Amino acid sequence: MPALYTQDSIERTREAVDMVELVSAKTELRRVGTRWLGLCPFHDERTPSFSVDAERKLYNCFGCGVGGDAITFVRELEALDFPEAVELLAERYNVELKREREDPQAEERRRRRERLLALLERTAGFYATYLWEAEEARRARDYLAGRGLSPEVLGSFRVGYAPKAWDRLLVGAQRDGFKPEELLAAGLAQRARSGGLLDRFRGRIMFPLADARGRVLGFGARAMRDEQGAKYINTAENDVYHKGRQLFGIDRARAAAAKSGRVVVVEGYTDVLALHQAGIEETVAVMGTALTQDQLGELARAAGRDGTVFLAFDADRSGQEAMLRAARIAEDRDLQLRVVQMPEGRDPADLVAAEGGQAVIDRLASALSMLEFAVERTLEDEDLDRPEGRDRALVRARALIAAAPDRSARRDHLVRMVADRLDVPVDYVIASVQGRPPREEMRVGAGEEPVGAKQGATKLDAEGVFLALCSAAGKAGEGYLSRLTDAHLSSPALRRARDHLLAHPGDPLADLPEDRELAALLTAVAVAADTGEAAGETRLHTDFLGLDKRRIERELRRARADGDFERQGELAAALQQVRRELDSAMGQDP
Ligand SMILES: [Zn+2]
Repeated sequence: MPALYTQDSIERTREAVDMVELVSAKTELRRVGTRWLGLCPFHDERTPSFSVDAERKLYNCFGCGVGGDAITFVRELEALDFPEAVELLAERYNVELKREREDPQAEERRRRRERLLALLERTAGFYATYLWEAEEARRARDYLAGRGLSPEVLGSFRVGYAPKAWDRLLVGAQRDGFKPEELLAAGLAQRARSGGLLDRFRGRIMFPLADARGRVLGFGARAMRDEQGAKYINTAENDVYHKGRQLFGIDRARAAAAKSGRVVVVEGYTDVLALHQAGIEETVAVMGTALTQDQLGELARAAGRDGTVFLAFDADRSGQEAMLRAARIAEDRDLQLRVVQMPEGRDPADLVAAEGGQAVIDRLASALSMLEFAVERTLEDEDLDRPEGRDRALVRARALIAAAPDRSARRDHLVRMVADRLDVPVDYVIASVQGRPPREEMRVGAGEEPVGAKQGATKLDAEGVFLALCSAAGKAGEGYLSRLTDAHLSSPALRRARDHLLAHPGDPLADLPEDRELAALLTAVAVAADTGEAAGETRLHTDFLGLDKRRIERELRRARADGDFERQGELAAALQQVRRELDSAMGQDP
């Protein structure tokens, strides 16, 4: 690629820069002899090791080893490429850039693009002023205030309002010398059925969509009334605006992202504003939930080397699937992705409003790796109440676990997670991942392969095993049997087996019912009760807690599916309680 700007232009730009002023915008400098010293804007430190040579217009840091001139400073800190950094500095220090020979057509395209950008910039200013000054924008102002957004943050993102009238923008922009054709090309006007032009955005809250350098390329627009059709509309694809490259807020997020080494990706405009306001300035939003390669590239640039990208999408299905897709397309990149688990039915802006910014920061700290997230999703996808579902979940999960390095803490963690959710011993999962057949006795509780499959006996899952334990444990067993509700048992046969055992204490095979399934189940229970060791109180207690935990998890999934928040809260508390009891019961000697 030929150089964009002449060497002479670049030199003149370097010379025009006031290095102390440029750096001072990012970190406070004080004079020490011939140099200027301050805290390094590239790494976190408490004592200054960042130094600027005003004369030679260079900087370096003794702490992290960065160094360079004004162009590298802007490139690194603002995540710009070389020509972008040169342009930014030239604009700031009033240097006219000369381009290397340019063919007339390319020049024509560039000039047209610059016109469209100027038009979009003017329009963003118009909408922003209109939001604060127009009477008709009052409801929009109220709505934004109701979301907890301050005038400062709205101002810094230049949030605006488009008048309801048909042609306010058209008329104003033409008065400023723009042609109707340019308004169409910039996506600001549309053709009416009559053939005439009208404003594309009317009666909507306007979010300017800027590129990394803060140049407005298009708009996202939120409806204020139901009859307006789509709640959100965006600028349509055109010569300047490309949805697949756009990240809302990237211009405001870049500096914070470069410094913190992370970018937080959310779904909504107001989420970006709310997090920004809460001090998490390294936040951007995707336009729609499908993250593209272009966007990932931009995110990787913003997060910098060794940076991490946090995805904080909604807990609903589309948000979750979008994150898995993102993981797949990020696979080939050297990019760390983490998934932030959001509460059901709440977006990040809700979370900040209800619990403050710290709630989001806490969730960032406990974000899942993509591998953990993928395993989690696999478990959610399968019906873990059924043995076949647990089989499938294990097969799918073990392929994911195998992707983690052997003997790593990551793999260990995943194994524990799967064992816990499938209610099987850790060794069983390890054996499965390593492709070894699990030891026989592990199969009983697992509900995987039947114990005596070859003999054609009915297999017992965790619930059946518990029935057998109770049946063999006399009075204590009866006590636990009577505590088993229908919700603890995942099939009608198991419930009837429980009733039968309660009706025939000490003699499960008495009065065997005609129902062949039930008879087979009771026989299996009786055989297991006979052959197994009599369980102590602790074993009964922990197994009961295990069933209770699974019951709560099932009900929690149902409450989530129903969107029943109140019930979710109750169940989450119950789940914590049962986990605590399990922990303390496991701590006791058997
Ligand atoms: Zn440094």
